[in-house]
Amino acid sequence: MKDLVTNQRLFFNSHVTKDIHYRIQQLERLEILLNSNFELLDKAIYDDFKKSSFENYLTEIGLVLHDIKQAKNKLARWSSKKKVKTNFGNFPATSYVIPEPLGVTLIISSWNYPYQLSLAPVVAAIAAGNTIILKPSEISPKTSSAIATILNEGFDPKFLKVIEGGVQQTTALLKQKFDKIFFTGSTTVGKIVYKAAAAHLTPVTLELGGKSPVFITKDANIKMAAKRIIWGKFLNAGQTCIAPDYVYVDAKVSEEFLKAATTEIVKAKYSFENHNYVQIINERNFDRLALLLDSSKIYHGGQRDKSQRYIAPTILHDVNFNDPIMQQEIFGPILPVLTFTDLDKAVSNVQLLPRPLSCYVFTSIKKVKKKILKEITFGGGAINDTIMHISNPNLPFGGVGSSGFGRYHGKAGFDSFSNFKSILDKPTWYESSLKYAPYTHKKLAIIKKLLKNQ
Ligand code: NAD
Repeated sequence: MKDLVTNQRLFFNSHVTKDIHYRIQQLERLEILLNSNFELLDKAIYDDFKKSSFENYLTEIGLVLHDIKQAKNKLARWSSKKKVKTNFGNFPATSYVIPEPLGVTLIISSWNYPYQLSLAPVVAAIAAGNTIILKPSEISPKTSSAIATILNEGFDPKFLKVIEGGVQQTTALLKQKFDKIFFTGSTTVGKIVYKAAAAHLTPVTLELGGKSPVFITKDANIKMAAKRIIWGKFLNAGQTCIAPDYVYVDAKVSEEFLKAATTEIVKAKYSFENHNYVQIINERNFDRLALLLDSSKIYHGGQRDKSQRYIAPTILHDVNFNDPIMQQEIFGPILPVLTFTDLDKAVSNVQLLPRPLSCYVFTSIKKVKKKILKEITFGGGAINDTIMHISNPNLPFGGVGSSGFGRYHGKAGFDSFSNFKSILDKPTWYESSLKYAPYTHKKLAIIKKLLKNQ
């Protein structure tokens, strides 16, 4: 690991990656590798948890290819020197900000969208001109191996290298000095990564998880709410960091919502055979989720089959904040429904919980939208929709508090892998005597006036 990091640092210091043409070439190389290996990538993700080719394109490779296209198109603009105003006290001069790569970067990713969560940060890191060590998740071994095979054959390890492995390999990597660490995973491991990074004062982006709420008020379009919530919840069998974790609905429309949500589940015909449902990633998670299936609260679903790591799309009702399912991020196909009679109280209940990665509200009342946006702190979200905010590259993506910090996607990804060098550029034909001794009352009066008017 040490040699690898040293070699990447030597390569970075050769300034090759600072050339925009080099970066574009590498992005094109990644694009070609993904397109030409799509079948291999498809097979690996199906083998890991039966994710279909349709969803592999929709939620993984398609998004990465789109990121590459956007980065290629916008790279010249993103990386150009940006002029800013110069204050009067520095006259005559020009001022500008130069984006530059940070250096040798480490990207550690999660298993639930194994391609997207590994490769979207890689695209951002390449675009910004860094070298990269990528550590995909060992929990999805087939996709991890596919990524390693394809990228390690396609790239020079001095520039981009995939290291496979789990805790042991990640711990060894974290002992090295990086110029940036980008981590996607749990809050618990996020703390380990943050601590390791602190030893080298390495900046980090932490993309973590949490319980993302969905509010539904009585004026909402309930049918549409049910359609969009059910899709967002059961996509990837609920194993999505921004999946609606629980629904918090006005008691006046809760029955209507439960019925509409059930209709949507039935209509979707979720199954492996229909290619719109995936397995629970492993037995450990299956067992954890099975314990959360409180049979006295099942409104719909609840069936499971351990041999297939299958849990049916399930709705729980009459749930309250003390139930075990409300004590952890669910990260599986179980949707608890809680009710409220007073929105103010509901909002303050959610405010008491750790800050979520996402929050959703279904309402037609402007005042309610404003209230949720003002009173709950969360990473990002949607009004009258779930999950889809992630698909807009113009919306910086990330968490806040225990759901993480830092942003990526589109320009935000480029920024998170860049240093912004601020420069004051002065000619030598003039120099004011104001700041130099002898200090006089007159000089001080002018300085005060200048600072006041700036
Ligand atoms: P995880 O934290 O267990 O693993 C993430 C990565 O950390 C893996 O590559 C793993 O090998 C490594 N790792 C695990 N234990 C480690 C240790 N002790 N020391 C060093 N490295 C270690 O998380 P996970 O199970 O892969 O993912 C689930 C969590 O990730 C959920 O909380 C989910 O919400 C969150 N998540 C967040 C986002 C986001 O974009 N914010 C996206 C996907 C998942």
